[in-house]
Amino acid sequence: MTDKRVYNFSAGPSQLPMPVLEAARDQMLNYNGSGQSVMEMSHRSAVYQQIFDETKADLKELLNIPDNYKILLLHGGATQQFGTVALNLLHKGRADYIVTGQFSGKAAQEASKFGDVHIAYSGKEGGFKHIPSQDELDIRDDIDYVHLCNNNTIYGTEWNYVPDTKGAPLVVDMSSDILSRPVDVSKYGVIYAGAQKNMGIAGLGVIIIREDLITPHKENIQVLSEYDTMVKSDSMYNTPPAYAIYVLGLMLKWLKSMGGLEEMQKRSVAKAKLLYDYLDNQDFYIPHAEPAARSNMNVTFTTPNKDLDAKFVKESIEAGMVNLKGHRSVGGIRASIYNAMPIEGVEYLVDFMKKFAEENK
Ligand SMILES: *Cc1c(COP(=O)(O)O)cnc(C)c1O
Repeated sequence: MTDKRVYNFSAGPSQLPMPVLEAARDQMLNYNGSGQSVMEMSHRSAVYQQIFDETKADLKELLNIPDNYKILLLHGGATQQFGTVALNLLHKGRADYIVTGQFSGKAAQEASKFGDVHIAYSGKEGGFKHIPSQDELDIRDDIDYVHLCNNNTIYGTEWNYVPDTKGAPLVVDMSSDILSRPVDVSKYGVIYAGAQKNMGIAGLGVIIIREDLITPHKENIQVLSEYDTMVKSDSMYNTPPAYAIYVLGLMLKWLKSMGGLEEMQKRSVAKAKLLYDYLDNQDFYIPHAEPAARSNMNVTFTTPNKDLDAKFVKESIEAGMVNLKGHRSVGGIRASIYNAMPIEGVEYLVDFMKKFAEENK
């Protein structure tokens, strides 16, 4: 039990910035003089419509989304899009998937229910420590799209280039690094992300889709998975995840007040560098990802053995840091340092790591 806020290194749902939590608290009982909380209001009301419209406009501004892209704010987080993308974008019935971790593997598996899925690269045998170079990708001709996952939350690897897809649209799962750096949206056909890593709370999927990829109404797709209907109804065919959209809006306003994505990139790079510089200059911890593939969002490493991993996690909790335990498929330690993690939290973690290494050598 503690009455203080902890440093939360969770991979998701993750820590939110204090100003976002405070705004949600202050507006909880009476949003903007409406006499209601956002949780209670009709999604068809003028007061909610304004929240919704501003959220979309702020996302467009922050990510510099071109006019020929639509923004959807839908239920089901990122996973719902694994199948939805395939259902909407498969016309020839062929898609290539680059598998650099568990989520891209799941996306490929889901899409294979609906079409001919070819694995253009798999990092599985190498323990998902690597991001492939262009030469390592086996991309077919005549496909509907190529799919990749931009940041591999579980393994701590991140793409730092946009591969050539031989003209096929590129679909990218950006769940764990969206809004951490500027991206050139025009290089992608579809960007999708669950909100709870870097931009809000769980249950909301943000989808940014190039207009020409929204194909006309298909009778054989369940309606909530149909981009055409969702675009035409502006994500409100049914009740949208209204409160999660509101929190996204608060996050976007906070990001704007902080200086936007260039500033977030500077901060992310500085935070990650603190950890990686330390890891590269000691011989107790073993970093997981290859140096060239390292993520600025999720930093993964192990101690010399499983017992010490467990001891590290236990003592880190006692020191006021939570959720540093690595994903069950990798073990070890994972520090997720998304937008909301202040640099002081990372400095505190590095000091703890140094002390723990000294004590347990
Ligand atoms: C967390 C995560 C997902 C799954 O998100 P849900 O919102 O739980 O469906 C998918 N892809 C990546 C890269 C993630 O980090």
